Amino acid sequence: MKWYTKNQAEIEEKLQTDMRFGLTEKQAYNRLQQQGENTIADQEKISRFYLFVQQFKDFMVLVLLGATLISGLLGEYIDAIAIMAIVLLNGLLGFFQEQKAEKSLSKLKELSAPVVTVLQEGVWVNKSSRELVSGDIVKIRTGDRVSADVRLLEINSLEIEESVLTGESIPAVKDDKPIHKENVELGDQQNMAFSGTLVTRGSGMGVVVATGMSTAMGQIASMLSSTERMPTPLERKLEELGKILIVTAILLTVAVALLGIYQGHPIYEMFLAGVSLAVAAIPEGLPAIVTVALSLGVQRMIKRKAVVRKLSAVETLGAASVICSDKTGTLTQNQMTVRQIYVPKKHFFVTGKGYNPKGKFLLNRKRVDPLHSESLSHLLRYILLCSHAEIMNNKGNYQIDGDPTEGALVVAAEKAGLSRHSLQGMKVIREIPFDSSRKRMSVVVEDEKGKRFVITKGAPDVLLKRTSWIQDGKEKLPFTPKKEKHIQHMMQRMTNEALRTIAVCVKEIGASKNDQDFQLESDLTFIGLFGLMDPPREDVGEAINICRDAGVKTVMITGDHVNTAQAIARQLQLLPPNGKVLDGYQISAMNDEELEALIPDVYVFARVTPEHKLRIVKAFQNNGHVVAMTGDGVNDAPAIKASDIGISMGKSGTDVTKEASSLVLMDDHFATIKSAIEEGRNIYENIRKFIRYLLASNVGEILVMLFAMMLAMPLPLVPVQILWVNLVTDGLPALALGLDQPERDVMKRPPRNQKESVFSRGLGYKIVSRGFLIGLVTLLAFMFAYQKNPDHLEYAQTIAFTTLVMSQLIHVFDCRSDNSVFSRNPIGNLYLVGAVLSSVLLLLVVVYYEPLQPIFHTVELPLTEWIYILALSAIPTLIWMPSRKE
Ligand code: ATP
Repeated sequence: MKWYTKNQAEIEEKLQTDMRFGLTEKQAYNRLQQQGENTIADQEKISRFYLFVQQFKDFMVLVLLGATLISGLLGEYIDAIAIMAIVLLNGLLGFFQEQKAEKSLSKLKELSAPVVTVLQEGVWVNKSSRELVSGDIVKIRTGDRVSADVRLLEINSLEIEESVLTGESIPAVKDDKPIHKENVELGDQQNMAFSGTLVTRGSGMGVVVATGMSTAMGQIASMLSSTERMPTPLERKLEELGKILIVTAILLTVAVALLGIYQGHPIYEMFLAGVSLAVAAIPEGLPAIVTVALSLGVQRMIKRKAVVRKLSAVETLGAASVICSDKTGTLTQNQMTVRQIYVPKKHFFVTGKGYNPKGKFLLNRKRVDPLHSESLSHLLRYILLCSHAEIMNNKGNYQIDGDPTEGALVVAAEKAGLSRHSLQGMKVIREIPFDSSRKRMSVVVEDEKGKRFVITKGAPDVLLKRTSWIQDGKEKLPFTPKKEKHIQHMMQRMTNEALRTIAVCVKEIGASKNDQDFQLESDLTFIGLFGLMDPPREDVGEAINICRDAGVKTVMITGDHVNTAQAIARQLQLLPPNGKVLDGYQISAMNDEELEALIPDVYVFARVTPEHKLRIVKAFQNNGHVVAMTGDGVNDAPAIKASDIGISMGKSGTDVTKEASSLVLMDDHFATIKSAIEEGRNIYENIRKFIRYLLASNVGEILVMLFAMMLAMPLPLVPVQILWVNLVTDGLPALALGLDQPERDVMKRPPRNQKESVFSRGLGYKIVSRGFLIGLVTLLAFMFAYQKNPDHLEYAQTIAFTTLVMSQLIHVFDCRSDNSVFSRNPIGNLYLVGAVLSSVLLLLVVVYYEPLQPIFHTVELPLTEWIYILALSAIPTLIWMPSRKE
């Protein structure tokens, strides 16, 4: 269907919809059933079977399977079957864990599906983009990623970047008139907005004509970039570590096997010993546990209202050392209220709370009727024309649909008894939209008599430069330096009280439709000034202090005036007494080196444009910081991308910034960043904890085998026992460490150095030293038992096996802290207690359950032996060792 050729009536008829009413709920529901969800089908989902098979593609598992096959051929059936069963069990565990991780990640995708404003039964409602159907009437705003193919019916300076479809990166200017031509290329269909493209300017309204796979984007879906998950830096490092371990294991195996053969041992026995060593060296369960720990961490973050879009952010968060936060909405409540209004010679105060349109106007502390002042009533009328926001009354709970700054202005006009209905004679015929770089917006209005004028509102310091006149009552006077100074003074007064200021100017113009924007916004007449209050959020001050204790500096970045920013920063205790404040004009006058030299002392950046944000991120990074940067507008995307952790706003953010970010704050709240950092630090520390646990166990296993071989003793452990320990009894406690609570001082330590290795801060030393002790006590236990009873090897092996498991299960409690094992309550992590108890139970089953004894080469142990076993097992954990920090 060539929708671009059709006019509105034809479209309404074809799609059975109405531009002023939309679809009914029932129609929308039925169409959704017929047309299906509005999503582009994911590229082939990984099949379950493939995921399962993938668990075995690990090189070490293949070696193991090969070895098993050979021992099977050599007649060791029971061993071969046991090893196969354990490998299979491990594969199944890995499969379920990964499937769970995948599910939680795809849930994340759902959480970040865009919300669209749709007209339903005459009311604008918000819907998930997945529920869009053809015939829906939708709004499109700057920063949206268009969710379906839409035929535009109304536009307002609308520009859309369509490079995903057309390759053209310069935004296309849109129109709402039918095109009377056949075969128009996508790029020239000016009255269409296509799914997947980005709205870079203006706004519009239109009717959905195609959804899901029927959209232009759906038809080329196969060209979409793949959505495969990239491994995080830590996962990559561990993968490399795994490779090193494999090579070491193979070299060790070959060396030991050759040595053994040289000493005259049978080849077959040495082959098995080699396999056992290799199995001992590899932490088979580690990669799966890292993935699971990360994905469980992500779920915990969602509970704390932080949605992670890129898994690597979880690690980076723990290293963050600077948070560059927006002011409006993140540090403040984004509940703007007009508190003061200045019109020449009169300074009004306005009472009232939030967006409730009830309040009084005071002049010289006396209540007045605002409509009695002609200047004020004009100002309030004009402001209604020059804003889009609407007040929504939800059973006495007043909210704003649109920009909060504009919302506050509209509420002030309503407090005076004005509404847009009372302005019916005036028509807005053109708009130059607001953006944070221009810091102003304008509309061209035509009155009943056809007279045209411009209304401009924006940051006073920007508008006053374009002002030549001032309206004083009925008189229009030249804007002399003296008058300008007075207005500046009024503005200072307001900003010192932490108020955001908006100036309003007007200008009469001729009938020309082709006036350039700069012509419209110059030679203006000043008519008034608003002061808006946006109180700080309550718990932000505390969160900033916690971050400071954690060595994380919080910096405010705002488009607001320096004084307003400074006043709010003081209220939040963000700005220390010697802290500096920079504004956008100063930043523009500096080169990058100057900015870098100054930036360590700066806490507030005011009147910045999105371009400045990028420079600020880079300057902090060049000072060695790991930067978390928030943003909400389209233009913030480059800075968000350049930062180490890009953060976007779930409520007020645009789709474009959300896509560029790695973390989304569901509640737009600064305190959530603090929680995310805390969680990020904890996840990283927990990963370190189980890496320490699993690797120390591996070191112990290798050493016990090596020592025994060097002492020309029989092997203390058989491969199936080592495999059982690595994959089964170690797995659950390691996972439980991944769920450990943070240590009390996580937010009291400085951020981690991003370049540090996982093994730094003494971890490598602990792995080797405790691993050595685990190996030693296992060997001692084996030697005593073997000497006592040299004819009964299985007995000594069972003792070694139980000592190994028990010493690891005691050592796991030591891994919870960088300090001593006694620094934490041992039953503080109930998952860990449960995991250790179940591992002990599994051990007892393998030792005492007769049918399993031949498989695991175990024999029943008398109760008295347990005293020795437990005493020896406690040594590696309890023995005092000199601590060493790397
Ligand atoms: P922050 O960066 O703290 O979130 P912000 O992004 O809201 O602040 P901007 O939107 O860049 O900051 O606003 C900067 C200035 O532009 C404001 O101080 C105000 O004077 C002016 N301004 C804000 N919103 C509007 C608007 N809708 N129309 C006209 N001027 C506006």
